[in-house]
Amino acid sequence: MKERCWLLLDDGVIEVSNKSENGFSFDPEEFHDVLTNHKVLGIIHTHEKNCAPSIHDIEGMMWWNFPWIIMAPTCIKGYILDLGVKEININPFFLEMLKDLFMKLSD
Ligand SMILES: [Zn+2]
Repeated sequence: MKERCWLLLDDGVIEVSNKSENGFSFDPEEFHDVLTNHKVLGIIHTHEKNCAPSIHDIEGMMWWNFPWIIMAPTCIKGYILDLGVKEININPFFLEMLKDLFMKLSD
């Protein structure tokens, strides 16, 4: 399954096209458009199997120093880069929203 990716905004989430076939990479124009028109609070993407950030994700975190949220069938985890990759707690309300979002993908 191709990874899906979203930007977390102060008023919801917005899906951005994934230009990568193995991993994810935001469509640059869509990404730029969202960045200029919204307040971006985080980056969300899916993994097929687990929630561990890939090397590519960690590189991305160096460029885009937002909280990164990874969703997979058995987990939803948040990370920040702060002298290494650190797991962060996800607000329970937001976690419910993410679960709904992920469930809808498999419909
Ligand atoms: Zn990833």
